[in-house]
Amino acid sequence: MYDAIVIGAGAAGLMAAAEAARAGRSVLLLEKMEKAGRKIRITGKGRCNLTNARPAEEFIDHVRANAYFFNVAFSEFNNRATIRFFERLGVKLDIERGERVFPHSGKAWDIANALTEYCEEHGVEIMYHTRVTEILTLGGRVYGVKYINRRGFERKEECENVIVATGGVSYPSTGSTGDGYTFADAMGHTIEPVRPALTPLRTSHPQREYLNGLLLKNVGAKLYVDNELRQEEFGELGFSERGIEGAVALRMSRDAVDALIDQRRASDLLRVSRAAVDALIDQKRVKLVLDLKPALDADTLRERIRREMADMQPEEFFAELLRKLVPKNLVVPLAKEVDFHSKSYISKLTDTEIERLIKILKGMVFPITDYAPFEYAVVTAGGVSCDEVNRYTMESVKVKGLYFAGEVLDIDADTGGYNLQVAFSTGRLAGQLKK
Ligand SMILES: Cc1cc2nc3c(=O)[nH]c(=O)nc-3n(C[C@H](O)[C@H](O)[C@H](O)COP(=O)(O)OP(=O)(O)OC[C@H]3O[C@@H](n4cnc5c(N)ncnc54)[C@H](O)[C@@H]3O)c2cc1C
Repeated sequence: MYDAIVIGAGAAGLMAAAEAARAGRSVLLLEKMEKAGRKIRITGKGRCNLTNARPAEEFIDHVRANAYFFNVAFSEFNNRATIRFFERLGVKLDIERGERVFPHSGKAWDIANALTEYCEEHGVEIMYHTRVTEILTLGGRVYGVKYINRRGFERKEECENVIVATGGVSYPSTGSTGDGYTFADAMGHTIEPVRPALTPLRTSHPQREYLNGLLLKNVGAKLYVDNELRQEEFGELGFSERGIEGAVALRMSRDAVDALIDQRRASDLLRVSRAAVDALIDQKRVKLVLDLKPALDADTLRERIRREMADMQPEEFFAELLRKLVPKNLVVPLAKEVDFHSKSYISKLTDTEIERLIKILKGMVFPITDYAPFEYAVVTAGGVSCDEVNRYTMESVKVKGLYFAGEVLDIDADTGGYNLQVAFSTGRLAGQLKK
């Protein structure tokens, strides 16, 4: 009989299995996909931003749910420990802008492979194409799991310790399909409502179609909910058919999604029709306001526009003036917002229109009406309630021998390497199988 069974060979499961095996325990790691760390391999656009090198106190501020709970696992195995861990495994690391840590090779699979090999070296037995279907319990104790093996047969394996590291429900093609929530729920655990976090935001802006493919490198962004400023960010933001994305939009999506859900819930309680709900949401209650010229204040921007106009011929088009100020995908939308045709002569531009242009450049409003589904969400917010898990051990307070690690828990964090660190820290602690 194994000392521990780990369900899921993602960042948390691999770390948990390795830690248990390192302490001399016999470990079986069950993974339903064909290889380990499918999700790790696509993280950080294929480069894997494995942690963030900020000081510990600042790091914790980036954990958006249950930071207090996570702090124990983090203080046992923090970002410095993660960096040392991978460097000892021979993975050279670089620290980039924003303290984000990446493998020097630029290849995410170096992290997935290093972790998998580390497990194998310590004798972890890994079974791929093996989907756990049930966790077996008796009298408030775990006694094993049922799974479907690679040949499609149901099997049972008895064990007194089971670590659930099945991840959330985002990017389900990587294997994270929420099975852990089903197991936990069946054993009496509360599942906090799951919703996409770090997900592209959808806007009802009438010119959104023109913006697909636009990438703004340095943009100032403010998120408003019911006209109250909720968050302010600076950095990269892009538009695609998935919605408004890029680090800035993703960081804001956590609060924007919650605000949209709250609005829908409130409207449902009031029993207003779906059309009324949509109309309500469309009243720009959640909005993203972009400063397209964050380096220039309004006066400097006015001078710049006047200078550009002085250098142009009177019969040049408004589009050409805009082209000097913004990327080309923004030309038509901006002209429409200013309400001055892009093919009109700049000599016709009035002072009022110039002021309107300045106002829009310094605060273009995008009403946020929806968000992209789990298929495009970097992480899942919600999950197994941390109130029912011992934060010093990661063991369930309801079922003995049952442990949780990683995204399956109700912990999510900002983009920047924080989420993988959550998986590594909680995995490491769970793998110690402390009682
Ligand atoms: C596109 C993308 C980019 C990201 N980039 C970053 C980044 O750069 N930095 C960062 O910090 N975070 C990033 N994240 C988030 C981060 O990858 C996750 O938070 C983290 O990988 C979660 O690890 P986990 O081990 O908890 O879950 P997962 O990685 O989801 O692993 C769960 C594993 O369990 C397996 N499994 C599920 N159910 C069963 C079952 N019934 N039986 C057997 N096996 C099962 C799954 O196949 C999977 O392998 C990114 C996420 C995505 C989607």
